[in-house]
Amino acid sequence: MNHKSGAILVLSGPSGAGKSTLLNEIINDVGECYFSISTTTRPMREGEIDGVHYHFVDEKEFEKDIEEEMFLEYAHVHGNYYGTSIKPVKEALKDGKLVIFDIDVQGNTVVTNRLGDITTSVFISPPTLSELKHRLEARQTDSQEVIDRRIKMAKREIQRISEYDFLIVNDDLDKAAQILRTIAKAARLKIAGNEINEFAQMWEDI
Ligand code: 5GP
Repeated sequence: MNHKSGAILVLSGPSGAGKSTLLNEIINDVGECYFSISTTTRPMREGEIDGVHYHFVDEKEFEKDIEEEMFLEYAHVHGNYYGTSIKPVKEALKDGKLVIFDIDVQGNTVVTNRLGDITTSVFISPPTLSELKHRLEARQTDSQEVIDRRIKMAKREIQRISEYDFLIVNDDLDKAAQILRTIAKAARLKIAGNEINEFAQMWEDI
């Protein structure tokens, strides 16, 4: 069955769970997709590029965008603002693409409430908390204080995995990538309510 409109795949999980690595593994295998680039007020990390990893803005600019209702969702995470702009998402959906979000649990709640009929959500978890700590420390991009805050946050986020359609425990990259690939392909086929009605109507009309 051909799909006219696009679909959404939400990926959440603590920083250090391996979301970006997994995404890079599968991105070429899931057909036409658009990775949503969030806007944030957090300082740029070494190696990050403005407009590629995030759109980096200051608080004033972010708050102006909130006022002008530019965001599909936004949240305060680890003391910084993060948000998803509506416009590029709308365009990608119109083009029938699979729109992929890397957003936190608060973002997933909003996206699922607003666009639940075309959204599939996946929580990606590290195998253990100590493994997460190890990965964050090995990355050497954050101070100990930031790492401690992220660990605390991870503990809280993991309490909410039941809000997701799928849980992937990333203890083996190849296996986790294979599962995510399958979910992403299926996410594309999720049919929105109006499409089901149209399809049913088509059968009525024959
Ligand atoms: P990081 O600072 O490690 O890039 O991201 C921190 C957290 O913010 C991650 O859990 C990530 O999923 C989340 N995040 C990134 N962009 C957005 C966004 O646009 N909205 C929401 N709600 N969370 C986001």
